[in-house]
Amino acid sequence: MSDYRGRFAPTPSGPLHFGSLVAALASFLDARRAGGEWLLRIEDIDLPRCPAGAADEILRQLEAFGLHWDGPARWQHARDDAYQAALERLTELGLAYPCSCSRKQWRDHPVYPGWCRAGVREPDQPVAWRLRSDLGLRPVSWQDRLFGEQRFDPAALGDVVLKRKDSLWAYQLAVVVDDADQGISDVVRGFDLLDNTPWQRQLQHALGAPEPRYLHLPLITGEDGQKLSKQNLAPALPTGDAAVRPLLHAALAALDQAPPEALATAPVTEQLAWAVAAWSVARIRPLAERPRADTPG
Ligand code: GLU
Repeated sequence: MSDYRGRFAPTPSGPLHFGSLVAALASFLDARRAGGEWLLRIEDIDLPRCPAGAADEILRQLEAFGLHWDGPARWQHARDDAYQAALERLTELGLAYPCSCSRKQWRDHPVYPGWCRAGVREPDQPVAWRLRSDLGLRPVSWQDRLFGEQRFDPAALGDVVLKRKDSLWAYQLAVVVDDADQGISDVVRGFDLLDNTPWQRQLQHALGAPEPRYLHLPLITGEDGQKLSKQNLAPALPTGDAAVRPLLHAALAALDQAPPEALATAPVTEQLAWAVAAWSVARIRPLAERPRADTPG
């Protein structure tokens, strides 16, 4: 029995695009290659930013690409109590504090300067909750499976928000609570989250949660060199088989897995069977030498 447990954790602020397919595919292949489980977690903590139907579309898109997850999908909107318990624990430990400051007040500083650490400055204002990045595990280092040795001082990154002034939970806290609760052994995700990992390591350490292994992936950029994202209107992944097959092949190529040309028209099950057997993290080229991917679709 493998002790590998991976996950894909999309934010349903819109449908999946080619960049999210690459992240989902890499985490799926890594899990299946290890004989492990692959879970799906819908990170819908910011419900006002998640249009109705987007999460269901994501489930349909993953199924169309043959990326079948184990067990029921987990939904973060239903996890308030767990996040609250974690925040209370951090507060008891002196590692979380309420903060009334607005971004405008500290705009001349590179990161929030921690003014409310000594007590809320404006007690009659709404408060956010922040992490005491200066008091937790420091420095934070880990061995990224692709990008190698990483070392950060979280205090230089600032006291990240754990709960927002509008009472919504912040990604950093929710992701750590759920990765721990779901027993995730391996986090495979985009490079844009690499510098969020130090806060997550601090939170894991403070909450006594195990440290997962991390594999951050090169980001897929469009022809303009920008990261593919919902913000720059990357096209939604199709769900029709004829369009899905070449896109899955393109995603394998974007992960430098060198899929045989003939596989581009093969059914997704066949492409995935080949890709699980051939999966090699060592083949993935980190950022610099990467040619820009075509953005199929
Ligand atoms: N929900 C995050 C996103 O869609 C990913 C979280 C993670 O993989 O840690 O960007």
